[in-house]
Amino acid sequence: MLVNSRWILDRAKEGGFAVCAPNTNNETFARVAIEAAEENHTALILDLNYPQIPDMVFFGRIVERLAKDASVPIAIQQDHGGTYEQAIWAIRSGYTGIMPDRSDKPYEENVAEVAELVKIAHAVNVSVEGEIGHVGMEDEPDTIRKNLVQPEMVKDYTERTGVDALAIAIGTTHGLYAGKPFIDFDLLAQCLAITDVPLVLHGGSSTGDELLAQAARSGICKINICTDLLMNAARLWNEAGVTDAGKGVKYLRQGYKEKLVHYMNVFGQVDKF
Ligand SMILES: [Zn+2]
Repeated sequence: MLVNSRWILDRAKEGGFAVCAPNTNNETFARVAIEAAEENHTALILDLNYPQIPDMVFFGRIVERLAKDASVPIAIQQDHGGTYEQAIWAIRSGYTGIMPDRSDKPYEENVAEVAELVKIAHAVNVSVEGEIGHVGMEDEPDTIRKNLVQPEMVKDYTERTGVDALAIAIGTTHGLYAGKPFIDFDLLAQCLAITDVPLVLHGGSSTGDELLAQAARSGICKINICTDLLMNAARLWNEAGVTDAGKGVKYLRQGYKEKLVHYMNVFGQVDKF
């Protein structure tokens, strides 16, 4: 069944676990992800990323159909939306959550642009995720520490924008790590004390099971995973010595699913829906 992202996040927050948001940028992986969710009686927030899916309407409608047919709750979430137009097109394409990411802009611009989109999205029951602090791409530990969220902003930002979810920079980075992964759990606790809005973590890949399990237990409601799923799919493909691409697709499916189910267990979300 198709639900909005907030519906899933509220249940995760109440239950003390996190829900995985896998990047699903093609139909094969969308089908595999939903299959894994159904087999494990759990929900998923499918992340669709614009640069990889420029034809939002076509692919959005495919995933919408798959989600509606699913026996478990599925949300379709825009991942790192860059422009106002992309947000509106996502809503029009059947997405049930948008993420206007203005974390690289001055704080007041971030607040103003996201608040405007919250007003529009809520009018049609679509959830909105904002981001403060900045989760970069394969950053060094020093850069990560410089861009961590400032807890005092959490209260101001959530109240003024009305977002349904907030991505906070507490140590992770997108892609692979340049240094030793860390999560600042004191900072997370400070943010949790300030707001009831579900908090989410980007850049889950290669952070390590122990840190992610602790984050899920400590109040993070959604963890985005992309690279680890794709790398596991590639690993199985390579190990099988695939020479015929048509015959190799099953290894991509298997590798993506195996790692996704692994994370469902790490995040404590199995059998919760
Ligand atoms: Zn992200």
